[in-house]
Amino acid sequence: MSAYRATMQTALTDISVTVLGAGMVGVCAALELQSRGAQVTLIDRRAPGQETSFGNAGVIARSSLMPLNNPGLWASLPKLLRNRSAGLRYSLPFLLRNMGWAAGFLGHARMAPFLDTARAMDGLINLSYPIHKQLLAEAGALDRLRETGWMYLYRTSAAFEGGAFGRDMLDQFNVATEVLDQTGLRDLEPGLNPIFERALWIKDAMSVNAPGRVVEAYARLFTDRGGRIVRASIASLTSLDGHWLVNTEKGPFQGDRVVVALGPWSRTFLERAGMRVPMAYERGYHMHYGGPNAGGNLSLTRPIYDLAGGYVLSPMENGLRMTTGVELTDCDALPNHAQLNLVEASARQAIDLGERRDPTPWLGRRPTFADSRPVIGQAPGRAGLYLAFGHQHVGFNTGPGTARVLADIMEGTTPDIPAEPFSPARFIR
Ligand SMILES: Cc1cc2nc3c(=O)[nH]c(=O)nc-3n(C[C@H](O)[C@H](O)[C@H](O)COP(=O)(O)OP(=O)(O)OC[C@H]3O[C@@H](n4cnc5c(N)ncnc54)[C@H](O)[C@@H]3O)c2cc1C
Repeated sequence: MSAYRATMQTALTDISVTVLGAGMVGVCAALELQSRGAQVTLIDRRAPGQETSFGNAGVIARSSLMPLNNPGLWASLPKLLRNRSAGLRYSLPFLLRNMGWAAGFLGHARMAPFLDTARAMDGLINLSYPIHKQLLAEAGALDRLRETGWMYLYRTSAAFEGGAFGRDMLDQFNVATEVLDQTGLRDLEPGLNPIFERALWIKDAMSVNAPGRVVEAYARLFTDRGGRIVRASIASLTSLDGHWLVNTEKGPFQGDRVVVALGPWSRTFLERAGMRVPMAYERGYHMHYGGPNAGGNLSLTRPIYDLAGGYVLSPMENGLRMTTGVELTDCDALPNHAQLNLVEASARQAIDLGERRDPTPWLGRRPTFADSRPVIGQAPGRAGLYLAFGHQHVGFNTGPGTARVLADIMEGTTPDIPAEPFSPARFIR
């Protein structure tokens, strides 16, 4: 190690860190900082992994380097703007109130900024992959992992041709894939009805059968190693003599450093503290279904993404979980199940879904910055306040890599991947 790096380094041993939010990102941050000797307290108003990190599709894929705002978006934009598609719905008032975000999001769908994001996300995903496997093993949760990849399904040859840009990009980033015809698809997923002309099997991908349970297992690992989890609602933050006070209904918690990992709720929380956080919410829903084989012998062996249908279907421990595409609206706007009802009809064409198993659809919020990259690092002008949120569609996947980069930044060591693309100074004032 160079002398320069040594002088810049701050050992985390015996430094107290309060991590706000026990989703995948916060729990991984807590584990990583703990492993470097910090005294870590993790605070959440709910048990670990009960919000966005609970209801996702559980996909951990290298193909997620492709953000939604990629150059392929332009071709589908006129259709999407009609606001009737299965994949994207938006609230016009929300977009008008977040015009800067909307313009930035589209601006990043141009080739050069898209490639910047794809490179950055590829790095974060590659960093996360082996750490997930290590954590799953250490947490005794390897039985939840499937290393069977996942699939994009095309209903027509024209749709397959239309996806050429995405496949080229995956090739450029050396993501292992295989194109399947109807026979190849039937061999791998015989439970699917023969309505798909082609499929792209993304082999560089794994998935879990209960994302919330995985976060719980990681959180247990943290407490088994001496970490403290506090169940409390966090109201505000105060800086005091070089420390931070986290104010909760159970009283204040003092730490040398604070990490804000409140997922979608980070925006309003930090805005109350006087910071500007131009982040949007790509909301999505899920529903479980019990087909004839649900509950052990599911009719799918890996997650699938029906591109025309606009849904992902993942085999989970409690049935087939169907997750929906994007609903751009306020974080806490009333649920609107129109999109879920629409995609359910498409999914029923693809597979014998059986009955709905949940009394009501689950609602989650994917927190997204205009360039589709999370913020990881110190808040501008606020020593000791660190940020780790905005992971859009891939926060379950990239929690471990985020934690590694964050701890390196806090420690003053050079991260394994460039941290600049994730700098909070891009957006936060
Ligand atoms: C439908 C859908 C499908 C998805 N599929 C995938 C997928 O297949 N793969 C993937 O990688 N990602 C997926 N995602 C995205 C992924 O779920 C998120 O990026 C990720 O869960 C974000 O994790 P987080 O820790 O940042 O946030 P969260 O999991 O939301 O954690 C934030 C925590 O902060 C707590 N909190 C908030 N405010 C307060 C407060 N005031 N006081 C105390 N606690 C508070 C909450 O209780 C919560 O536990 C999907 C998302 C959705 C909605």
